[in-house]
Amino acid sequence: LKKPNIVILGAGYGGMITASRLTKQLGHNEASITLVNKHDYHYQTTWLHEPAAGTLSPERTRMPINSVLDLNKIKFVKDIVVEIKRDEKKVVLENGELEYDYLVVGLGAEAETFGVPGVFEHAFSKWTVNGAREVKEHIEYMFAKYNNTPEKKDELLTFIVAGAGFTGIEFIGELSHRLPELCARYDVPREKVKMYVIEAAPTALPGFDPELVEYAMNLLESRGVEFKINCPIKEVTESGVLLASGDEIKAETIVWATGVRGSSIIEKSGFEAMRGRIKVDPDLRAPGHEDIFIIGDCALLINEEINRPYPPTAQIAMQMAEVCANNVKALIKNESLKTFKPDIKGTVASLGGKEAIGVVGARKLFGSSANFMKKMIDNRYLFLLGGPGLVLKRGKNPL
Ligand code: FAD
Ligand code: NAD
Repeated sequence: LKKPNIVILGAGYGGMITASRLTKQLGHNEASITLVNKHDYHYQTTWLHEPAAGTLSPERTRMPINSVLDLNKIKFVKDIVVEIKRDEKKVVLENGELEYDYLVVGLGAEAETFGVPGVFEHAFSKWTVNGAREVKEHIEYMFAKYNNTPEKKDELLTFIVAGAGFTGIEFIGELSHRLPELCARYDVPREKVKMYVIEAAPTALPGFDPELVEYAMNLLESRGVEFKINCPIKEVTESGVLLASGDEIKAETIVWATGVRGSSIIEKSGFEAMRGRIKVDPDLRAPGHEDIFIIGDCALLINEEINRPYPPTAQIAMQMAEVCANNVKALIKNESLKTFKPDIKGTVASLGGKEAIGVVGARKLFGSSANFMKKMIDNRYLFLLGGPGLVLKRGKNPL
């Protein structure tokens, strides 16, 4: 009898945990498992604001896939997914094709622009290792250039973050924390540097605990960050941003963080989707497809209590992966499938240095206790992926 082919697309939080669980739950003779990813390394997206601002080496946010998965048990293909041909049960890659009996799609997210023109041309919007490296190098270049241009233009030292969601806040937290070091290193007077966070909604971190939002804003303002709230960006140009109010802010650096949509592969492959995310069945399969599971940022899951989608997070991607792996195994072994129910443990966001904010269970956390919790969450993921060895090798010091 032919072994079923399981193909997993994307080695992010969802793909890696699914792969690692399936290699444990299915024997060599029961299935052949293939993981496809753009790079031969896995990166922790949730850490990327740090290398982007230059407060952590990018090397700390990635690891070779063969260092965490046993490639005797799973085949790894380094390639770019181009399209899923559902009728033919095939995945088209840049350099070939793969046939599947069961497919797991964990291709993550892409930047959402809500139609604002100029983002891809003039802003940094890639939350990947390569994207983070580019932002860091660009920021340092702006500092280096400032004293070497006779005009000493203000826009060289103006840094705009578009969107005061968690990504924008965590990034400006790191950058504002690093600012004194950058100014000293490049002989730039601190008062010359302008940092803006521009947010369309009536508050930063819409929907989050107001007391914690105030704590974060006060802290960031004390480091020189200026918030422009209720202030949608309507265009990004070569010279800066145009606001809905008609004002322009000139800047050479615009970091885009106004939210995400699911991988463009989803829509390209003809799935019915909302902002690139497929509203999954309770067992995480794509509606009408018995053989395709969708996990992580490509999946849309409604929180019935408030009738709104759960925000796409690593926390949910990892939990989906556990259920997805179980359900793929269940289909192969003719067992019954599990229903996915997220167990939201809380939200913690770093603010640079030893500062953070968070809600864990019913508890609000500020400052160093939130920072401790944030590092423990980062380490917990490493533990789930590679056990205590991976935490010892690659974990963060929570103190
Ligand atoms: P990802 O982890 O993004 O992985 C997708 C993988 O697919 C990547 O390895 C990518 O290279 C690969 N890929 C993509 N396209 C292709 C292709 N065409 N071909 C081949 N491979 C491809 N969530 C939290 O819960 N807590 C946090 O603290 C948190 N912090 C965040 C901080 C930042 C700066 C950002 C940007 C996000 C943060 N998030 C956080 C959200 C979280 O990172 C995502 O929800 C999570 O990464 C989704 O996991 P995933 O497996 O769906 O995709
Ligand atoms: P988001 O959707 O959470 O926030 C984007 C923000 O941009 C919103 O506040 C929105 O009002 C604003 N915005 C949209 N269009 C705008 C415009 N034209 N001009 C100005 N502002 C505009 O997106 P995100 O911060 O990128 O986060 C993506 C996902 O990752 C979310 O689910 C988030 O919860 C998760 N995340 C979690 C953490 C954490 O838990 N620590 C950190 C980062 C990201």
